[in-house]
Amino acid sequence: MKRRVSILGVTGSVGQSTIQVIEDLRSGGADIEVEAVTAGANIPALLDACLRLRPRLAAIADPKLYSAAKSALVGTGVELGAGAAALEGAAAANADWVMSAIVGAAGLAPTMAAVRRGAVVALANKECLVCAGPLFTEAAERHGAKLLPVDSEHNAIFQVLTHPERVEKVTLTASGGPFRTAAPEVMASATPEQACAHPRWNMGRKISVDSATMMNKGLEVIEAAYLFGLSRERIDVVVHPESVVHSFVHYVDGSVLAQLGAPDMRIPIAYALTWPDRAQVATQRLDLARLGALTFETPDAERFPALALCRDALSRGSAATTALSAANEVAVQAFLDGQLGFLDICRTVEASLGELDKGGRIAKSPTSFDEVALVDQAARVVARRIAGSLAAA
Ligand code: NDP
Repeated sequence: MKRRVSILGVTGSVGQSTIQVIEDLRSGGADIEVEAVTAGANIPALLDACLRLRPRLAAIADPKLYSAAKSALVGTGVELGAGAAALEGAAAANADWVMSAIVGAAGLAPTMAAVRRGAVVALANKECLVCAGPLFTEAAERHGAKLLPVDSEHNAIFQVLTHPERVEKVTLTASGGPFRTAAPEVMASATPEQACAHPRWNMGRKISVDSATMMNKGLEVIEAAYLFGLSRERIDVVVHPESVVHSFVHYVDGSVLAQLGAPDMRIPIAYALTWPDRAQVATQRLDLARLGALTFETPDAERFPALALCRDALSRGSAATTALSAANEVAVQAFLDGQLGFLDICRTVEASLGELDKGGRIAKSPTSFDEVALVDQAARVVARRIAGSLAAA
């Protein structure tokens, strides 16, 4: 196996798992060269990635950190850039496989730089699709880029999508997060630490909070709709606390195919990196007899209103999904900063969409990435104001 790869968001949870998979494949004889890696602000983790992967170049998002990062990388031989243009430059560098693992809408522009090069893009960053939806998938098609979903549910669907034209519906599985059985009053007073203590997956803080509100599953419904061309009625969600079945594809003849595996992100990452082949990788293995039983439940729509919010945004169109994603980013950050209550996250998103809708700001789907950015900015302004007033209440 031979690959030339870049990793956007190498310092994050998915980025770190990608490093492990690369090291494992290399030790098995795979020829994997690393062209570029990017970080947001974590210089020690960037240095560690450079020492382990020996990329040609590295980029750090925060331009103020250039000098500190430059000093840290002295002697590594890695070329360094900083700021938005450097990030896009790293994404557009000469790699045939690019891991998109920056969190949030900040991942869109760098991922688009890889898409424009026609690269194979391993897509962990779901916000790219939620924000830019059809524009993003059309650009991938136009530039001959291959999108390989890394989000475990979408990766699972991709793995069993033997007859895309014969799909009746898909079912996304959800762990239910840390508050699956929690009383509303417990959720109301939840702290960031409690919300980030996911029972199955070890992830970055934003996606952990999204899992706790189940906004993550709603975002994944939108992601699946755009990625696989399915209407919202054809995407179900079922709570599956063991997180072993990563999703189901229901075919028109009544057959249901599923992909199973331990809750270990190295599995979908390895699949994407070795696709269309598979290779020996040291990931967690399933012990079915030890598991004993797999359980499935209907999500509780009252305690987790985010799912309905996402489905509603999807039916309104891509301006609404862009706005929803942006408002959610603002609200989650305010919660993580200790300024907003846990239940106020969804309230902020709902009220922001309501206000933008009244003002006619999400009626028309964006026709360019500039329009996507305008909707995103407008939603952030509204969400910050609403979060501020909820926090003060
Ligand atoms: P983390 O928060 O762990 O990592 C985020 C990465 O993005 C870090 O490398 C961070 O850099 C970088 N980053 C943050 N802000 C910026 C910015 N403004 N510009 C450039 N880079 C930035 O997130 P995860 O790894 O958990 O998630 C990454 C993406 O993958 C998300 O979209 C998430 O939804 C998706 N995903 C994650 C899964 C998981 O298991 N973690 C599972 C499925 C999907 P730094 O740390 O240096 O500041």
